Amino acid sequence: MRNDRVDAKEREVQSTGNQCESSNDSGRSYSCARAPVGNSGTDSRPPGRRRKKDVMIRLPLGVAVLRDPAFNKGSAFTEQERDALGIRGLLPPRVHAIEEQVIRVLGNVRRKTTDLDKYIFLAGLQDRNMTLFYRLLLENLEELMPIVYTPTVGQACLEYSYIMRRPHGIFITAKDRGGIADLLRNSRIQDIRIIVVTDGERILGLGDIGADGMGIPAGKLALYTACGGIHPYQALPVTIDVGTENEDLLNDRLYIGLRQRRVRGEAYDRLIDEFVAAVEEVFPGALVQFEDFANRNAFRILQKYRDKTCCFNDDIQGTAAVTLAGLYSAVRAAGGHLRDHKYLFLGAGEAGIGTGDLLVSAIAAEGVSEAEARLRCWFVDSKGLVVNSRTDLKEQKLPYAHDHEFIADFAACVEDLKPTAIIGVSGKPRTFTRQVLETMARLNERPIVFALSNPTSKTECTAEEAYAWTEGRAIFAGGSPFDPVRTHGMTFVPAQGNNVYIFPGVGLGVIASRATHVTDEMFLVAARSLAQHVSYADLSQGRVYPPLPKIREVSAAIAAEVAEVAYRRGLALNPKPDDLGAYIKSIMYYPEYHRFV
Ligand code: NAD
Repeated sequence: MRNDRVDAKEREVQSTGNQCESSNDSGRSYSCARAPVGNSGTDSRPPGRRRKKDVMIRLPLGVAVLRDPAFNKGSAFTEQERDALGIRGLLPPRVHAIEEQVIRVLGNVRRKTTDLDKYIFLAGLQDRNMTLFYRLLLENLEELMPIVYTPTVGQACLEYSYIMRRPHGIFITAKDRGGIADLLRNSRIQDIRIIVVTDGERILGLGDIGADGMGIPAGKLALYTACGGIHPYQALPVTIDVGTENEDLLNDRLYIGLRQRRVRGEAYDRLIDEFVAAVEEVFPGALVQFEDFANRNAFRILQKYRDKTCCFNDDIQGTAAVTLAGLYSAVRAAGGHLRDHKYLFLGAGEAGIGTGDLLVSAIAAEGVSEAEARLRCWFVDSKGLVVNSRTDLKEQKLPYAHDHEFIADFAACVEDLKPTAIIGVSGKPRTFTRQVLETMARLNERPIVFALSNPTSKTECTAEEAYAWTEGRAIFAGGSPFDPVRTHGMTFVPAQGNNVYIFPGVGLGVIASRATHVTDEMFLVAARSLAQHVSYADLSQGRVYPPLPKIREVSAAIAAEVAEVAYRRGLALNPKPDDLGAYIKSIMYYPEYHRFV
């Protein structure tokens, strides 16, 4: 039964399209559906299934609130709110606290039998009750982050065209040249401060999955909110769909993206140029995080825009910082300083070279020359050892092309170079073989083994292999989560070198200071700050990163360090608050319900 108050608040939808806007008392816009959708031209449906005429929906304010994920509280609407909004009777009578709702939805998640089903359930929750979604995620990060992000997000992306419900963010295609600013305005959100953008060409270690890669920016932004306290309405996921080379997708009629080969060359560059300019125009000063672009574009795009606009590349710089933080912790456990170790990377792409570059700065900061620091970092790519006799090396690898004989085989490189640390960022599974790990154990009292390739199916070795084949002496980090391992009479808690330890804090620091640029120094201080949060108790369990439940504290600390750099280097537009740390904590979003009365 509808009461008078509802009628008084009812908005009649006037539109000729299938979507229109209406405002509530607080000025917020609501999107109202007109159903069935009118068809202005010819109707190709068979007779009998044709629509006779449009039917106008009259959408009461209260119903709009129930349907708006930002305002919906489900069973948590109070008695007074139910009356004021005219939604009494539309909800079961019992009023629940958010804490009780969390128990219910967590139970629902756990009842799902596959991780992908859990992912789909959580996406649905995010679509209907954003506050509850974030509260659930925040309070159960260790359990749910592998669902919302890696490794499950990898599988979700592979099936994105089939499981997508309500799309989040903006899809820009190669056909939108000249109108990208208008597309961004269509997001209807004015205060966007962070954009995560991908072109879907190198999603995790899965390769080119085109527009299906949208799961990555959407997932990253959920983590910005849960782990860094960025308000969900300040964050926008964007996919730039320039086509795909993935034959399966090109032949799949349910694929959601452009069914064409990738646009390359000048046309591609002009599209990215327009996108960056459009962000400046529509959301001035917003931070752009480039995500999962293929190697061929990632370095070039970063070089081109890093001094022109506020941006960074998470695969290059975020990975570098989280890996460096892990190495700071690992050398604490192994003994010595960064400069006392020798690092052999398997993989010389974005993650590898990005880490190498930051590691060189960190080693140099310990009092050695940059040239000497570089001599401690060695790379193996798909062809073999990166050495100066090779003529096939891309520019970014040249600084690491040392004077040494060429060796094709990784295990032979380990024998020859005798590294203290091996870092896997190749995307090639099982390349840290038993032979490699036993050699590392023979050469080192505490071999450092980081197998960072994602998702789990791509890892260079599992945590169990790393511990078992080094007699439990490895200091291990994985790119994906691994369960605790019991071997050689000890229980190890494998660390996950997840960029989530870095990018939310960096983004928060940039927002807090309104930094105009993101510099390498910011990633260096972020890595140091993260490493400082690793306790001796963590190290004794095998963790080189702090436990995830501490993540918001870690992000706030990183943000303060990043903002300090912005102020010190004259890059901050916001005036410096008296107490930067307290200010940062005060602007962090915490998922709590809006009070309507
Ligand atoms: P990329 O494509 O830029 O680089 C891959 C590199 O691996 C290239 O240099 C390539 O030559 C090399 N390679 C390929 N096959 C090889 C082989 N058989 N032996 C040796 N090298 C080989 O990719 P990227 O962005 O550097 O990412 C690489 C992997 O690292 C991915 O699986 C990605 O998911 C993972 N990664 C993990 C994290 C993390 O855990 N925090 C962050 C970023 C990337």
